[in-house]
Amino acid sequence: IPVDPFDLVIFGGTGDLARRKILPGLFRRFCSGQMPGEATIVGAARSEMDDDSYRTFVREAIVEFGGGRHCEDGTLDEFLKHIGYVTIDARGTGGWDDLAGRMRDGIVRAFYFSVAPALFGDIAERLHNYGLATPESRIVVEKPFGKNLETARALNKTLAQHFDETQIYRIDHYLGKETVQNLMAVRFGNMLFEPLWNSQYVDHIQITVAETVGVGGRGGYYDTSGAMRDMVQNHLMQLLCLIAMEPPARFEPDAVRDEKLKVIRALEPVDYHHIVRGQYGATDTQPGYRDHVENPRSTTESFVALKCHISNWRWAGTPFYLRTGKRLKSRSSEIVVVFKDTPHSIFEEDAGRHRNVLAIQLQPNEGITLGVTIKEPGPGGMRLIDVPLDMTFADALGPEAEEVPDAYERLIMDVIRGNQTLFMRGDEVEAAWAWTDPIIEGWTRRGEVPKPYDSGSTGPDDALMLMHRDGRKWREIR
Ligand code: NAD
Repeated sequence: IPVDPFDLVIFGGTGDLARRKILPGLFRRFCSGQMPGEATIVGAARSEMDDDSYRTFVREAIVEFGGGRHCEDGTLDEFLKHIGYVTIDARGTGGWDDLAGRMRDGIVRAFYFSVAPALFGDIAERLHNYGLATPESRIVVEKPFGKNLETARALNKTLAQHFDETQIYRIDHYLGKETVQNLMAVRFGNMLFEPLWNSQYVDHIQITVAETVGVGGRGGYYDTSGAMRDMVQNHLMQLLCLIAMEPPARFEPDAVRDEKLKVIRALEPVDYHHIVRGQYGATDTQPGYRDHVENPRSTTESFVALKCHISNWRWAGTPFYLRTGKRLKSRSSEIVVVFKDTPHSIFEEDAGRHRNVLAIQLQPNEGITLGVTIKEPGPGGMRLIDVPLDMTFADALGPEAEEVPDAYERLIMDVIRGNQTLFMRGDEVEAAWAWTDPIIEGWTRRGEVPKPYDSGSTGPDDALMLMHRDGRKWREIR
């Protein structure tokens, strides 16, 4: 279904995120017929360019980052007719009148802030002063949303001077993933799981976001941030909310976000014995974290593992184990719900015993697998084995799975539709910082240095011990 006509301005339209994600994503939505003929997309950044040179830039970005077969059949030429460019300095005065002149009245206006967060306030202010912000306008802001509670509050306050909360879309691309939404469908669309979704039946839950990449070209930023701020405070917390929240009364923005907020507020402070910080070291052939960030004394973590608890009726006593890191063995993001043992086994001890495990995989392939215990086929007596009930989209949907939109493109279309369900509300972001701040402050106060780990490993051994001590183990990063 095509969305309504819109004007979309991408501040930072020449940046890495625009090139790799936003522009190719918009093109894919165009190819699928979701973008109306009247849509216009304007790049706005500091680089001196005109419409034509920006179209060349966009063409190259799309060809490089996934335009697919439609790059050749004339569709890309059609798409480029919707593209324009304005040279603008977020802190200056030039270009703003030109931009205002390109906006049309009476249709949706979206302003994507794909720039450094230090510029968010300047842009919001100028959108207001140059009359670009209308009641139909919405703004999309990228992460990081602040670097602690204080800065997030200040940023919320700045944006609130010019925009209502209903106009602010704080993006967390993890929420745009098909599987994340499927998690809600599985939980709240089936009778099967929800009765078991509590501490009585769930032994523990694991959330892993493992990356193989290092800090890449983002070293300068990353070294002032670290895995806790860059990944846990936003992506992992959001996944935790969706797995742990109560059923909202309706699948509507505030109903969903109210429930997520309750989860964050019910999180107990984390005991520092239950947190492991790591930093990848150098090998003979590969530079380490400190080389990458060009800071030989850096104590910033590129890995975090922690155990936390949610103090409410549903989850009291159920541990949640979270871990994320760079330069790990493989790229894998997954939420794993491990159910308890059956109360009593009727089989011989040597039949084996298995726990049901529901694994929700976000990366590299999206899908959901439920491990079910059955009898090993054959004449060998009653021996139990674990088989997966597999809901991998690529298998279940066949060729249609290719059409599953990428997280960014789905979220941008949600912005145009005015649907905030998959975006973080200001109070959620603040509550998440209120939980992570004391952890980070504790590290600083104690002068804690991250544990080194090898590139290509699963992180520091202490992370394995974190679960081992509890008689549990991490699901293997595959
Ligand atoms: P980038 O450095 O590649 O691009 C920055 C863009 O901002 C460029 O287009 C540049 O011209 C523009 N710009 C810089 N100063 C400006 C000014 N004064 N006025 C107008 N434009 C100005 O950055 P990026 O990687 O594209 O990231 C953009 C935002 O998205 C950042 O907030 C970043 O944290 C966030 N983000 C990026 C990624 C990613 O994968 N690249 C992922 C998540 C979040």
